[in-house]
Amino acid sequence: MTMKTAGIHHITAFVTDAQRNVDFYAGVLGLRLVKKTINFDAPEVYHLYFGNEMGSPGTAITFFPWAGSRRGRIGGGQVGYTVYAVPPGSFDFWQERLRKLNVPFTPVERFGETYIRFADPDGLGIEMVEREQGTPSRWSFGGVPADKAIKGFGGAVLNSIAPDKTRHLLEHVMGLELVAEEGDLARYRAAGDIGNIIDINRVPVGWGIGGAGTVHHIAWRAKDEEDHRSWREHVLSNGYKVTPVIDRQYFNAVYFREEGGILFEIASDTPGFDYDEPFESLGEKLMLPEWLEARRDEVARGLPPIEVRVLEEDAR
Ligand code: ZN
Repeated sequence: MTMKTAGIHHITAFVTDAQRNVDFYAGVLGLRLVKKTINFDAPEVYHLYFGNEMGSPGTAITFFPWAGSRRGRIGGGQVGYTVYAVPPGSFDFWQERLRKLNVPFTPVERFGETYIRFADPDGLGIEMVEREQGTPSRWSFGGVPADKAIKGFGGAVLNSIAPDKTRHLLEHVMGLELVAEEGDLARYRAAGDIGNIIDINRVPVGWGIGGAGTVHHIAWRAKDEEDHRSWREHVLSNGYKVTPVIDRQYFNAVYFREEGGILFEIASDTPGFDYDEPFESLGEKLMLPEWLEARRDEVARGLPPIEVRVLEEDAR
């Protein structure tokens, strides 16, 4: 059976301070906080989702902000860079914006494209690239107008400790196509038009250390619940140890550790983030799964207050 993922569904990372996280991804990058919930496995920690206006698959980056947690080190077995796609012609705007907000960045070139590389406040590696592909975001916030807004993921750079194995998985199980090789990197393309370009090291990278400022897992897209079940069977039949299907409220999930050390998830596009609150007010209320509703006050008291706010530099 040949199956092809459309690309990245979401990327999930560890950070420390929740408000600083909101100020960067909403304030600096102009993304929408589309869901404010808690880590279903550790309700004393937020789970924050940022994306385009809907948090569409291929646009959502999610965080577990854990105050005082140990800083990790980006390396093998992780996503090295999370790449954002912005509209063609918007680089001048973004470079001026990053300068104004004191976010140091460096331009890098690969596969004939120019990237702006920077880090978030916890050290997470981020890049931005101009791409024609991908539906324009309809979200504008603070200093970021909709016509300059991040469309979603351009893709990601993976750091594998066993790249031959990871590359085999990408091509023969996940259904990506090898499109180019250059220097230390190989480039794969997934079937969708966002979150679809995956670069991976060609020679092994030594293990990173998980912790704040590193990606915990990368999730790939399945269409709906039925397609998601097929994906689980497909991965299982290729010899990977896969978790049972887990209900993550906004999508179904399965997880498996690939041989290059990276934690992969497969997530369904359905039902999406407007499953439990209306589009207009996405992300405003603390959303809890049913089994935690009875403890809402207690859970809320254990979380630091956060607000989505326009940065001072943008308000002047
Ligand atoms: Zn996930």
